[in-house]
Amino acid sequence: MCNEYDLELKRYLFNYYGNLLTEDEVDIWNSIIEDSKKKSFFKKVKWRKKDKIKFYQDTINRLLKEHQQDIFINRCSICGALARTPEAKICRNSHKKVNDVWVEMNSIK
Ligand SMILES: [Zn+2]
Repeated sequence: MCNEYDLELKRYLFNYYGNLLTEDEVDIWNSIIEDSKKKSFFKKVKWRKKDKIKFYQDTINRLLKEHQQDIFINRCSICGALARTPEAKICRNSHKKVNDVWVEMNSIK
């Protein structure tokens, strides 16, 4: 397993499937966000980087394992990029989804 989680996948899952997080996960997530807002040079950081990575990795793995049927990973079949939202019809490399099939833009007349 790599020691960096997929940042795009994290953003996608936490933004669009946050309702599938447990109460504990929401508490931890809020705590991490609060921590990241502390601006002082002398701030006492509660969350070390490796602990944050582990939390996100574990949570992503749990969501994908336990909520396979609830989560739609909107990934472009041409380039493999994750679309911004579950409903997006265009990927970040400008491929377009037409009738649920990803196509190259220049193939559309
Ligand atoms: Zn694409």
